[in-house]
Amino acid sequence: MSNSLLYHTQGLREYKYLSTEYADSKVRIYIEQKEDLLKCVDCGSHNVSLVKIKTREIKGVPMGTKQTVFMLTIRRLRCNDCGADKQEAIPCIPSEKARYTKAIVRTVLELRPKMSITDVADFLGLHWGTVKDIEKKYLQKKFSKIKLKHVKIIGIDELHTGDGFITIVRDLESGSVLHVGEGKGGNALDGFVRKLRSSKCKIKAVSLDLGPAYSAWAEKYLPEARIVYDHFHLIKLMNSKLDALRRKTMGDADEEMKKRLKKKDFCSSKMKKTWMMTVL
Ligand SMILES: [Zn+2]
Repeated sequence: MSNSLLYHTQGLREYKYLSTEYADSKVRIYIEQKEDLLKCVDCGSHNVSLVKIKTREIKGVPMGTKQTVFMLTIRRLRCNDCGADKQEAIPCIPSEKARYTKAIVRTVLELRPKMSITDVADFLGLHWGTVKDIEKKYLQKKFSKIKLKHVKIIGIDELHTGDGFITIVRDLESGSVLHVGEGKGGNALDGFVRKLRSSKCKIKAVSLDLGPAYSAWAEKYLPEARIVYDHFHLIKLMNSKLDALRRKTMGDADEEMKKRLKKKDFCSSKMKKTWMMTVL
């Protein structure tokens, strides 16, 4: 195997191929970081001395039907400039203690829209939890850096999850969730205020329920935005007022009017309009 093949099939640009073993239905490939790339992780100096060597098994993308494991040489280095005594950086893995390559991460994310977690885990020789963890980290990273620059119309609503309330901010044009805060009211939007300030976006309108807490928040933090009350909450309010009027009218009506009104239903807006016409 050449260094070029390592790079093009496994994404290992910084490594030198040493040897290969075939055993237990696996391909074991011995590699080490190219010596001219070794440097101090603290100051970046290449003036370093070797202290200790160990080997770590790193899972790579399968070759055909064979699982591929890289036997990676990892060196501890002493810096002759700053005195640091630390393990070399491992650029081929996504985090310091990971046992799989960045190429595996990319492959998991490419396969997941087409295959179940179990199928991806079986195909790549990974544990089910590892695949789940890779996907979870990707989603957390993706949604923690949502750009607000072009957002113009937002909606704020609260939701009861069973454990308590959460407050959700959405971009009403794209449908994207921009922020999820614990609890309800203005305090649940503190994180969103920080995002707003750093983005310098120009929010033109904000849709709210009828609660005073969010209106006060919008007037304070989005003074130039038009406040629009969610039609769902307005219809709900109108319905409760109309029902109160119906009960009062029934109470005041004579027997003949009561008989006429009882035949009317109140389930739809059309029925309510009919009922209103009857009363008036
Ligand atoms: Zn150093």
